[in-house]
Amino acid sequence: MNDHQMPGAGHDTEVQLQQLYQEVILDHYRKPRNKGVIAASTHQLTLNNPLCGDVVELQLVVRDGKIVDAAFEGSGCSISQASASMMTERLKGRRVADALELDATFTRMLHGDEAAASDEDLGDLRALAGVSRFPVRIKCALLAWNCLEELLEAPA
Ligand code: ZN
Repeated sequence: MNDHQMPGAGHDTEVQLQQLYQEVILDHYRKPRNKGVIAASTHQLTLNNPLCGDVVELQLVVRDGKIVDAAFEGSGCSISQASASMMTERLKGRRVADALELDATFTRMLHGDEAAASDEDLGDLRALAGVSRFPVRIKCALLAWNCLEELLEAPA
């Protein structure tokens, strides 16, 4: 933030940014990308977040160390479902090692790391940066990613 800005102007910008982020999250919640079932998935796992009642089933098709397709099923709060929708968009075509790197960046962002929050590799996922201020919701945002970690870090 610019030090010379009027305090009020900085606040307005932050409010506008939060509204924009809120719209991105709601858009993914209402029109989830890659929601459905992949019949030929090579990996799938369902996890839930009992604190909030969220459920995410992540399905992947992994070939030669690359995620060629990704989809999810689930229900729950807007943060959990939007995070899963945005995540599947960023996973397709990505190598497994890169996917785990993205997971690490996203996790750092949710724990308040500002450098991680400005990483363009996260795309729409940056809309979830504000969740870092609400510790109870971090589990919602990480649910789909916990599926990803368990699926990709498991021994073949
Ligand atoms: Zn939730």
